[in-house]
Amino acid sequence: MKIKMKCPVCGRQIYIEAPPVDGLREFVVLHGDHAAKIYIDEHHFVRRAWPAPLLKAEEEEAPRQAYGVFVGRGRAVVVGPGGEKLAELPTGELGAAVTLAEKLEMN
Ligand SMILES: [Zn+2]
Repeated sequence: MKIKMKCPVCGRQIYIEAPPVDGLREFVVLHGDHAAKIYIDEHHFVRRAWPAPLLKAEEEEAPRQAYGVFVGRGRAVVVGPGGEKLAELPTGELGAAVTLAEKLEMN
């Protein structure tokens, strides 16, 4: 059912589409970049409406994949998270191998 109400944040006349309500139910109304919490009763009467600050939720960042450099037998070998060989350089270029592993880890 369409309900006409005054947005408690910006004061403009707005319309919301509410489902059938049994008793009293709480809803969050998103109007543009702001939100309000409201209570609607079974007669689709807005009993209470007040501004509700919006918070942005984020999911936890996935753990980084680890890349490594193994040194031995005159070689610096860059390996991926699964142990796969990605590059092989002379040990004199160990710095370049580490830089490569760091770059791969950042992506
Ligand atoms: Zn508003």
